[in-house]
Amino acid sequence: MSNWDTAGLMAADKRYLWHPFTAMHDWCAPGHEPLVLVEGHGAILRDSRGQEYIDGNSSIWTNIHGHNHPRINAAIRGQLDLVAHTSFLGFTNPPAIELARSIVELFPPNTLSRVFFSDDGSTGIEVALRIADQHWRWQGSERRRFIAFKDAYHGDTAGAASLGAAAMFQNGTNWNFPAIEVRSVVELEALPAQEASEIAAVVIEPMVQGAAGIKLWPPGTLAAVRSWCDRAGVLLIADEVLTGFGRTGEMFACQHEGVMPDMMILAKGLTGGYLPLAITLTTEQIFSMFCHRSCPENTLFYGHSYTGNALACAAAKASLEIFDEEHVLVDLALKIETLRTELATVREMPQVVEVRQCGFIAGVEVRSNPADAGPGKLGAAICLAARRHGLLTRPIRDVIVLMPPYCITPSQLQQAVRALAAAIAEVGQKTVPA
Ligand code: PMP
Repeated sequence: MSNWDTAGLMAADKRYLWHPFTAMHDWCAPGHEPLVLVEGHGAILRDSRGQEYIDGNSSIWTNIHGHNHPRINAAIRGQLDLVAHTSFLGFTNPPAIELARSIVELFPPNTLSRVFFSDDGSTGIEVALRIADQHWRWQGSERRRFIAFKDAYHGDTAGAASLGAAAMFQNGTNWNFPAIEVRSVVELEALPAQEASEIAAVVIEPMVQGAAGIKLWPPGTLAAVRSWCDRAGVLLIADEVLTGFGRTGEMFACQHEGVMPDMMILAKGLTGGYLPLAITLTTEQIFSMFCHRSCPENTLFYGHSYTGNALACAAAKASLEIFDEEHVLVDLALKIETLRTELATVREMPQVVEVRQCGFIAGVEVRSNPADAGPGKLGAAICLAARRHGLLTRPIRDVIVLMPPYCITPSQLQQAVRALAAAIAEVGQKTVPA
C-alpha cells in the first residue's frame, strides 16, 4: 500500500505549480484531480493511491528501456559517487567524452562526427540553427533563411519556434530566425532559384511529424529533400528528437531512406528517458568552419550551465549499452508487428478516422462531432477514460498517441491497445451520431 497524502499533494500542486502547455484554469478547478505519479518499473507507472498504469506515451516520448532499469540506475549511482556535475566551459569530463565517442561510432566514418551538448530537444535545435547561420556567415554567404515543413514541431524556444511552433502558440510573436514554410517536396522543388540561394538549411522530422499528430511522410520524402538540398547547396538538419534511438524501428529514422543529414538533433530517448540532455551532431566539414583558425569570432557562442552534465551522460552511455546487451532493436521489430496486429481492430472502429503507425509510434485519429465538442476535447476525454482502463497517454488534439517504452511485454502491449479501444468505444459512443 502507498502512504502518500494524495489530497495534500494535489492541493499543494494547485497552490504552487504552473504546468507546461496546460490551461491552468481547468487544471486548478475543484473537479480536476491531477494524477500524482510516484513510481515506475519497466513500462508500468504507479500513482500515489497505488493504481498502476501502462506508460502509453513513454512519459512524453522519452522513455525507451523502461523505468528503473538496473543498468541505467547503476550508471547514475556510480557517477553520483564521483561527482554529479562539473562545468563544461573550460573543462571536460569522462562520461561526456565516452558518450560522444559512442554516439559518433554509431555513424559511418566521415559523416556525423562532432557532438555539441545541450539540454533538451528545443535547445538542440537552437544550436543547429545557430551553427548553420554562423557557418554561412563566415563564408560570406547571404544564406540566412530556414525552410521548415507545414505543421512541423521543433521545440518552443524562440529560435526553434520560428520553424513552425510559433503559429501553434497563436500569439503573433516574431521569432528569431527567418523561416519559409513549405508543405511538401513538390513545394520545395518549386522554390525559385533566387529564393533557394538564400536558404541556410532545411529542417525536417524524418519519416514522421510527431506533434503534428503522428503524420507520416510519403515514402521517398526524406531522400528527395536530401537530393534537393544537395542540388541547391543547402544544409539538411534532421530533427531526430522523437525518432532517434530506435523509435521508428531503425536506430535513426534517416536510415530508412539511406539519408545522411549535415546535422542531427538527438534528445528525448538519449538518456533512456531519465535525465534532460540533447546532442547536436555535425559533420567535420561544418565543424572545421569553427576550428580552422584561432580567433574569438570562430567560437560558437552558445552553452548552458548544465552542458555535458555527467549524470545525464552516464545515463545516456548506459542506455546505448543496453541496445547491444539486450538486442533491443531485434525484439522491437517483433513488438512493432504486434502493435500493428493489435491496432487492426481499432482501425475498424466507427469512431476512428485513421490509425497511423511508424515503427513503435502510433497515432489513432478519432472522429469528433463538432456539435458536442470542440477540436481536441474528444481526444482528451478518451485519454481520461483510458486511464480508468489502466493506460496513460496524452492526445494531440483528436489523435491519441500510443508509443510505450520498448521493454513493454507483448501482453502489456495487447492490454494497452485494448484499454485504448475500450476508451474510444465508451467516449465515442456519446459523440458519434448513429
Ligand atoms: N523536436 C521534435 C520532433 C519534438 O517532438 C520535440 C518535442 N516533442 C522537440 C523537438 C522539442 O523537444 P523538447 O520538448 O525536449 O524541448
